[in-house]
Amino acid sequence: MRAERIETARRILCVFPRYTSSFGTFEYAYPLTDGVQAFMPPQGLLLIAAYLPANWSVRFIDENIRATTAEDFKWAEAVFVSGMHIQRQQMNDICRRAHAFDLAVAIGGPSVSACPDYYPSFDYLHVGELGDATDDLIARLARDPSRPAQQVVLKTADRLDMTEFPIPAYELADIKRYFLGSIQYSSGCPYQCEFCDIPGLYGRNPRLKTPQQITAELDRLLACGVTGSVYFVDDNFIGNRKAALDLLPHLIEWQKKTGYVMRLACEATLNIAKRSEILEKMREAYFVTIFCGIETPDPDALKAMQKDHNMMVPILEGIATINRYGMEVVSGIIMGLDTDKPDTGEALLAFVDESRIPLLTINLLQALPKTPLWDRLERENRLIDDETRDSNVDFRLPYDQVVSSWRNCMEVAYQPEKLFARYQHQVDYTYANRMPLPVTKEQRTWANIKRGLTMLGKIFWKVGVLGDYRKVFWKFALSRLRNGDIESLISVTLVAHHLIMFARAASVGQQNASNYSVRLREASVPAE
Ligand code: SF4
Repeated sequence: MRAERIETARRILCVFPRYTSSFGTFEYAYPLTDGVQAFMPPQGLLLIAAYLPANWSVRFIDENIRATTAEDFKWAEAVFVSGMHIQRQQMNDICRRAHAFDLAVAIGGPSVSACPDYYPSFDYLHVGELGDATDDLIARLARDPSRPAQQVVLKTADRLDMTEFPIPAYELADIKRYFLGSIQYSSGCPYQCEFCDIPGLYGRNPRLKTPQQITAELDRLLACGVTGSVYFVDDNFIGNRKAALDLLPHLIEWQKKTGYVMRLACEATLNIAKRSEILEKMREAYFVTIFCGIETPDPDALKAMQKDHNMMVPILEGIATINRYGMEVVSGIIMGLDTDKPDTGEALLAFVDESRIPLLTINLLQALPKTPLWDRLERENRLIDDETRDSNVDFRLPYDQVVSSWRNCMEVAYQPEKLFARYQHQVDYTYANRMPLPVTKEQRTWANIKRGLTMLGKIFWKVGVLGDYRKVFWKFALSRLRNGDIESLISVTLVAHHLIMFARAASVGQQNASNYSVRLREASVPAE
């Protein structure tokens, strides 16, 4: 549902900041694609764009795709910005550029909601989710779009029910330029892992959209040109297990109706492995990947961070169970925990080998505001405010030792031979368990064929001819070609290439050791 119609029409420029290069944004894969330039369409900003009164004009710019121009700023009457902590410097930069045109600038989203102090120059701070603060912001801009004399902080006390959320304005984004499509079914998580800000920001009782909203959003994404993977950005897809079970039959029907053109992915806690009834339906809905925050294979560490739910089934068993339903596990891993020992890096590398998980986002611990970890470290006087460091945590082990162990893990885990061997295991023991799909007319379009051929051409040239790990690549590629499995050949190589290149840069200190670190680095530039 949109905000109520307001007589005064306004022109709002929504700007999404560039990412700082990170492991999870896949920018090294972009040059191998048919023109991908950014990771995922930003849900929050597109949601606000859709919520604005119907008679307001909205222009959306993702600065990962193109920079905002003087003409854009001259067109606008006010600017909206949203993003995560890692985009903090870029958001402040957008504000500075907009102020050069004397425009009022409002910021919303997860970073400002957790840390309003990070954004002293903005005219309006929108703290919290879509709700009464949003209506207040719209009413103020309708009355007067000029810059207020001092900063105005608007806090959402009354959140809009998610069943009232409009479909994010995907049509404003150049959807084909994104690596993945994105969609959100729920918000919040019932657990309270020590390092995580989700329960503090979004609550412990997951809020939900209806299954009908989700299928309508999928229809819109399809109409906007998404045909590859769509990621459910929910903090925990099984935060409300009943809701997940309610949604899945609708997703299955939708996939059947539209010819299985989409591969689905989500984030969920590892105890999903105990829920065969959910896994079976996810397989039928063609979920192919689950991101699980495994964090560490060390049971003492899991206990200390209040993540005992990861131990409801033995970790390796849980991973193998998920794989049996055709879903690859992607894992979050944290180093620098208080429980880490000098041999933690080696134990982690052994876990990588045993689990055969290809993609693990290995981050150094970072204390986020609004988390129990932050409160504890503050009490212990162990928070460090130093932008030259890769973490704001005063580790128990010496800082240099932790960082060098992280770099070593990145270097070893992502050696091309090891990585492609793990992918080969996935092909044999995970992908083989996926539901065989008929090749539908929706998949066999000329646009899809052209897209596939373009990517194959780039992969063969840039990795198979020019790449320094081409021998390893061809071993994998030839086995896929012999099996006629072009889809795995393309999808694995895109991700593997990013992981190999990112890990190489990380192991010599050229990348952040945390997705959340505010360490000063260049904003992401698609790599050639
Ligand atoms: S299960 Fe995941 S989303 Fe939930 S609190 Fe823990 S880390 Fe956060």
